[in-house]
Amino acid sequence: MAFWPSVVVATPAHSGVGASLTYRSELSLTPGTLVRVPLGAREVLGVVWECPDEPPEGLTEAQTKAVAGVLEGLPPLNARWRQLVRFAAQYYQRSLGEVALAALPPQLRDLNAVQLARRLKKKEKQQATRAVEPAPEDTTAAGPELSDEQREALQALEAAQAPVLLYGATGSGKTEVYLQATQHVLQAHADAQVLVMVPEINLTPQLEARFRERFEPLFGAGALVCLHSGMTPAQRLNGWLAAHTGQARIVLGTRMAVLASLPGLRLIVVDEEHDPSYKSQEGARYSARDLAVYRAKVETEALAAEGGDPAARCRVVLGSATPSLETWHAAEQGRYLRLAMPARIGGGALPRLRLVDMNNQPKGAVLAPPLVAAMAERIARGEQCMVLLNRRGYAPVLACHDCGWKSACPHCSAFRVFHKLDRTLRCHHCGFTERVPRACPECGNLDIAPIGKGTEQVEEQLAGLLADVKRPDGGPARVARMDADSTRLKGSLEQQLATMHSGEVDVLVGTQMIAKGHDFRRITLVAGINADSGLFASDYRAPERLFALLLQAGGRAGRDAAFVSSQGSQSELWVQTWTPQHPLFAALRQHDFPAFAAQQLAERESAGMPPFGHQALLRADAKTQQAAQAYLNAAAQAADGLPHRDEITLYPAVPLTIQRVANVERAQLLVEAVSRGALQRFLNAWQPVLLECRSLPQARGLVRFAVDVDPLSI
Ligand SMILES: [Zn+2]
Ligand SMILES: [Zn+2]
Repeated sequence: MAFWPSVVVATPAHSGVGASLTYRSELSLTPGTLVRVPLGAREVLGVVWECPDEPPEGLTEAQTKAVAGVLEGLPPLNARWRQLVRFAAQYYQRSLGEVALAALPPQLRDLNAVQLARRLKKKEKQQATRAVEPAPEDTTAAGPELSDEQREALQALEAAQAPVLLYGATGSGKTEVYLQATQHVLQAHADAQVLVMVPEINLTPQLEARFRERFEPLFGAGALVCLHSGMTPAQRLNGWLAAHTGQARIVLGTRMAVLASLPGLRLIVVDEEHDPSYKSQEGARYSARDLAVYRAKVETEALAAEGGDPAARCRVVLGSATPSLETWHAAEQGRYLRLAMPARIGGGALPRLRLVDMNNQPKGAVLAPPLVAAMAERIARGEQCMVLLNRRGYAPVLACHDCGWKSACPHCSAFRVFHKLDRTLRCHHCGFTERVPRACPECGNLDIAPIGKGTEQVEEQLAGLLADVKRPDGGPARVARMDADSTRLKGSLEQQLATMHSGEVDVLVGTQMIAKGHDFRRITLVAGINADSGLFASDYRAPERLFALLLQAGGRAGRDAAFVSSQGSQSELWVQTWTPQHPLFAALRQHDFPAFAAQQLAERESAGMPPFGHQALLRADAKTQQAAQAYLNAAAQAADGLPHRDEITLYPAVPLTIQRVANVERAQLLVEAVSRGALQRFLNAWQPVLLECRSLPQARGLVRFAVDVDPLSI
């Protein structure tokens, strides 16, 4: 007897290979089984999708190849996981094989059945020696006493029938709610698993430490695994295997973890759910937050279908102090359950907003004198400050005032950034780097000068401005910088965080990475010094992001109420702006996210923007801008007559803001629809047309195209 498994393998999105390939097998293979199959001259990893006992019509035995091997030691990927992958592929317009295989650890592709069996055996041994018997008396005591607000939120969360938005102020103790919800789920069901997602694990080593500290004594040393792209291939494989086999009870990961195999999944936490890093910017451009909500629904339906406990659910919690407007809107409509925790743990006040009108400051000042004075006072009292600036390097442009030369990148339509420390001009888009020229390359003028400011320059200026300020111990004030440049080396980030925690550093200058999640106890002043760049960006989501960033950053201040009051101090958020009358600041002053959200949602509604309308982008990369746009416009024309075309608006092709990167010209075309369903059905019908249009003569020079559903910026 023969079987004819259909197997999905890693196929490029537009290779023209169908959703799955048919092979032959002597054995019946359970769907979800991992196999190795011949593909062309290679042997590749695949996932069995179905396994009928008859060949598909028109296919003969001679036309099919046999499955080369079965990865027997592994339980099959379950039906819920396959449904999640199928949905993600279909919704984000990618091939099933691409999404399925990208969700598996890369190293799995290189292992045959024997190697895998060896790996699993080794893992089992490790587990046996490492596992500690959980101490039963610990099981009730773990965790501090919750505040009334936290307890109410936890109870409501555990009874919720819908996705939960945990809307808690910075410092309100959301993490403790996640921890206790996790503990309850894991203790209630012996095989339960919890997925906790964070935007960037590396930026918040404290969070991982807190989860380990809490759960390893309860559930053993292997109970928690991480899954993120900073891990080695071997670490990722081990983490994935532990999750897939149920050994790991908790998976702490970044957006990629949403696609991990978790057979016992009962709770998903998406922390800082508004963070843009949950949306993938390459390959399948999925939103891990949105997939988490979908995944919880699928898991809950499966639990209901299994029978047993009718109340069994997989819950999903989205946490934020500044929720995305999509999530906020869903809560307003009652589709999500909103649980508010407005108070800070320990009763600390939220920082007071101090707006600096830059129109009244000395011309050319990077840092307003009153801000510098306020920082000096705080340093003298032993408090710390944080200065936020979204631009690394010394200056964004180097220019010659004689002939007008600017440090443009020869490969991109962007300027190269001046990095003074290593005397380089670096393109932040393609990486092209050169030594800073001694003189203007155009006219030989020796007097070339930086324009604008970056973190390096602010660090340098602050060190000068605060040179005479003394700390309480009599030492000079110390300024440090933290950005992608200063944290490039392994371990340097941890080291820099440590100097801040220990109080060695008085002022930390950095990009938005310093605003995220850190729990610095002694910070009482946070300053955003070029907020206007977010206020007047062309992207309609810019105000939302700026508000979130400033509120998050401000949330770093005054987290330790006892410290602040013992200092007789008050925490402050300073913002330098040329437009202090902007309504965003009025809402920020009151820490009034609901008012800000209401105003933004009203604007979006009148413009038909998300979440009231639905969008996708068709992007094209080509050798010339003309080819990129011609392809897009041809694809738009060829859409005539497709299903739901009359419910769709196709805009003309336009170049991207940075239209050329690494010598590739980029353009995009906006697709808009009033209903999500219409958009989805239209895109499905459009996909084959997009493939056909690649061979049109006007598209000659096209490098690639991609569809971005629910894009974060347009
Ligand atoms: Zn010149
Ligand atoms: Zn470049």
